[in-house]
Amino acid sequence: MPVYTGSCFCRKIEYELRLESAEDARTTLCHCRNCKKAFGTNYGLTAKVPKDTFHLTKGQPKEHAGDNGSGVNIYRHFCDTCGSFILEFGERQENAKDHYRYICVGSLDDTEALPPKGEFFCKARASWMPEIPNVFHKQEIQK
Ligand SMILES: [Zn+2]
Ligand SMILES: [Zn+2]
Repeated sequence: MPVYTGSCFCRKIEYELRLESAEDARTTLCHCRNCKKAFGTNYGLTAKVPKDTFHLTKGQPKEHAGDNGSGVNIYRHFCDTCGSFILEFGERQENAKDHYRYICVGSLDDTEALPPKGEFFCKARASWMPEIPNVFHKQEIQK
C-alpha cells in the first residue's frame, strides 16, 4: 500500500495519503477562474482521493467555505501560519464532501508521485499554456 506524505510550506501541517494503489488518485489540472484565484496561479492542480485515505499527522488546517458562483459551496483547507493550500472539496453530488478530498499536488513531498490524468475547464486555459499530451481534456468541469 503506497503512502504519500505531504505538508504545508512551514510544516506546521503534515499529512499522509494511504492509498490502495496509485490508481486510487486522479490528478487533474483545472483552468477555471476559481482555481486560478484559489491557487494564485494560472491553473489548479489537485489529486482526487477517497476521503478516508487522507490522514492529518500534524497540525490542523484552517477552513474557508465559499460559494463558487453556482450556488455550490467549496471548502478549502490551508495553513493559517504560512498560507499553503492543502486540499479542497465541494458539495456537488459527485465530489461530495463525505466521499472525496482534492489534495493540492504541490503540497506532496514527492510532487511527481501522482501525474495528471486530465484537464478541466480547458476553455479558460491561459493562452500561452500548451495542452498536457495524452490525458483527457474537458472544456468545462464535472469534477
Ligand atoms: Zn504552514
Ligand atoms: Zn477549477
